[in-house]
Amino acid sequence: MASPLKSLVDDDNRYQTSFQLFLERSSEHQCMQDFIHNKLPDILASIGDGKSHLNVIGVGSGAGGIDLEMLTKLHMKHPGVTVDNEVVEPSSQQLHNYKVLVSQKPGLDYIKFTWNKMTASEFEEQWKLKKMTKKADFIHMIQMLYYVKDPEATINFFQSVLDKNGKLLIILVSGESGWGKLWRTYRSQLCNTEISQCITTGDIKSFLDSKGVSYQSYELLSQMDITECFTEGDENGELLLDFLTEVLHFSKSASPELKAGVMELLRHPDCSVESDGKVIFNNNLGVIVIDQPS
Ligand code: SAH
Repeated sequence: MASPLKSLVDDDNRYQTSFQLFLERSSEHQCMQDFIHNKLPDILASIGDGKSHLNVIGVGSGAGGIDLEMLTKLHMKHPGVTVDNEVVEPSSQQLHNYKVLVSQKPGLDYIKFTWNKMTASEFEEQWKLKKMTKKADFIHMIQMLYYVKDPEATINFFQSVLDKNGKLLIILVSGESGWGKLWRTYRSQLCNTEISQCITTGDIKSFLDSKGVSYQSYELLSQMDITECFTEGDENGELLLDFLTEVLHFSKSASPELKAGVMELLRHPDCSVESDGKVIFNNNLGVIVIDQPS
């Protein structure tokens, strides 16, 4: 049964505000930056097969900060190579932020940006309609597969677009994170089954294993300070709660039972640790890299 609660993603303004606050309260981007710095260069070393031009697709790029860091590593591993970078992002605000970032950052002349203000499935539809034969060397979908109707179909499509030696990078919350526990407990009540899925890299691994697809995986340690959620009426706390539950105005619209259950679970040792008066939620991420065999 579909949940009667409204999904946070239905309100792009509130979604973006709560996402921004989440970034400030968590080590989300720091742990991704560590990964990009320490692991990604080796992952990217083998793509492209010696070509002088690489095709990259970023799906759900947001404001582009993480994308540009990855592109910088790509450039370091493949100097002298030009890059065609397709950005797939439905939020006009985020697309605008990304363009501003690009305009402010020098040294990106080797990249041609193509802006696709659309969802992953609209991009897929267009790609098929135009009978595109172009292949991609590096595709990434970072923290976005929650928002597609059928994550497995989305992975299948983008995998089919990979060139020889190409790589598809997926980052989602880890099955072992507080998110995983929260969603396993309240999936049927919180998750809008149409556009917001409670999926973790644990679910993606099961799906890939069942299809016999091989991949590499990594766990990234990350934390989120959710202390403000426990101060009744705190505006930041409410934004973070919306983000955690993916429910629009969670504390006003959820039943008292659901709210009490979620609040209790959020500070339970399965999800968080408490120290120095702070409640620190386990925000560990999982990374999956799928190779296109050569
Ligand atoms: N990758 C960025 C942003 C993650 S937030 C980062 O890690 O910082 C998720 C992003 O996915 C948002 O920018 C949102 O607008 C976008 N998004 C939402 N639904 C989408 C869909 N159906 N297809 C592609 N992107 C989507």
